[in-house]
Order: sequence, then C-alpha cells, then structure tokens
Amino acid sequence: MLCPSCAGENTTQIQIRLKSEESVRFFSCRTCEHKWWKYEGESIALDDVLSLTAEKQPART
Ligand SMILES: [Zn+2]
Repeated sequence: MLCPSCAGENTTQIQIRLKSEESVRFFSCRTCEHKWWKYEGESIALDDVLSLTAEKQPART
C-alpha cells in the first residue's frame, strides 16, 4: 500500500475486525506520519470508523 500523502512504501497496516466478516484497515505511513482508514476497499474518515465500531456495541434503550 502506497501512502496517499507522500507515495512512500514504508507503511504499516492493521486490520481491525468489526463483525464476523467485516473489518476496517488502519494504515499509517512511517515516512510522513500520515494515517488513513479503509473499509471494504474504500477510504473512510475516522468519524466513519467510529460509527462503524459503535454499531457493534449493544444498543442502549
Ligand atoms: Zn507518507
């Protein structure tokens, strides 16, 4: 995975499982410290990640 910010190849990837078949991937660039997320191949914002992870928690009624 190339960094979308500096096009460097020195990136780390962490997969975070949401549900049985869903996961988000967190990427960070060691060159420029840029960080980004992907969900099902699409780039998403941190706010989207938070709402996705919130869904797996029990609903409060
Ligand atoms: Zn970078």
